[in-house]
Amino acid sequence: MLKVEHIYSGYGDLKIIKDVTFDVNNNESVLILGLNGAGKTTLLKSIAGFVKIFSGKILFDNKDITDLDAYRRAKSGITMIMEQAIFPDLTVKENMEIAYSKNTKSNFNKELEDVLKSFPELKAFLNIKAQALSGGQRKMLSMAMALLARPKLLILDEPSSGLSPLLVSRIVKYAGLLKEKGITMLIAEQNPSFIEIADRVIVLESGIIKLMGTTSEIANNNEVKKTFFQVA
Ligand code: ATP
Repeated sequence: MLKVEHIYSGYGDLKIIKDVTFDVNNNESVLILGLNGAGKTTLLKSIAGFVKIFSGKILFDNKDITDLDAYRRAKSGITMIMEQAIFPDLTVKENMEIAYSKNTKSNFNKELEDVLKSFPELKAFLNIKAQALSGGQRKMLSMAMALLARPKLLILDEPSSGLSPLLVSRIVKYAGLLKEKGITMLIAEQNPSFIEIADRVIVLESGIIKLMGTTSEIANNNEVKKTFFQVA
């Protein structure tokens, strides 16, 4: 579905992502694991069209999207979840309606009912403005919005950041749920808990792919254990 070929990208003249090549197949979830400053956000934004690509190629559904604007990439089915995508002055339900407007499949009330089964805590907030939500509730809203939008490719940038360990495990569970619904995902994280819902893992360091492998290969790699699981 997504093919990233030898991309270099960054800000101004500053190259952050260097010669990155990987692909994401239909229904697969690929995890990009990296510490602070590894270039995860820059890589995801390069794919979604928010960061300039200096060279290399990105193909989505066999079409070259390297030079497409972000909104055209979004129209073709790439959704990057960012908390900025939540409208603070609108209610939780109105935010969900906007997300759903990208989905042509069925009826909003039916889909809302389904989504609330997965995110029951949002029920109490449906008529409350999104600005009143806590960080964790915002993350849940943005994941619920992703479910409603049904993108072809969902890009999640550090869904666990700033959350308590308990909430992180719930977000991992919700990401697993999105995967079960057949949504293809590309997730960037420094929290290795997300390995459990990934099919493949890419370890990014200083804008370069350091390792790439199956979930078990990466989870059993000593370097990865030391860096991300703090196992000596
Ligand atoms: P974190 O986990 O801390 O969010 P990350 O892996 O997502 O880190 P990036 O945010 O992609 O990393 O940052 C990679 C590098 O790019 C860093 O050195 C950062 O200083 C630099 N960078 C990020 N945004 C900009 C920008 N707008 N202009 C210039 N440099 C930037």
